Amino acid sequence: MPKSKVPAHVVKRDREGLIRCRVCGCTENDACPAGCSWYDLDLCTVCRAVVVAIAEWTDAARHVNRAALWREVGREVRGEVFSIRRGRQRSAA
Ligand SMILES: [Zn+2]
Ligand SMILES: [Zn+2]
Repeated sequence: MPKSKVPAHVVKRDREGLIRCRVCGCTENDACPAGCSWYDLDLCTVCRAVVVAIAEWTDAARHVNRAALWREVGREVRGEVFSIRRGRQRSAA
């Protein structure tokens, strides 16, 4: 038995028959921009890293507020900062 808990029929494939990541949809020919490989049959390493991080957060956080977390992700993506931090640019090295 393969280690994957996902039944084979759930695995999604693109038009060329290449397996798609079950989270982000990347394939062998269309990998994540950051570069990824397969962690599981149909789960790429980029998505796996996020799953692990969120699982750790779920265990560690006082209150697991997914909506608030998602808002934070949006802020991060859009580069928004709270007014208290305004003026202090994130050091981008
Ligand atoms: Zn992925
Ligand atoms: Zn990927």
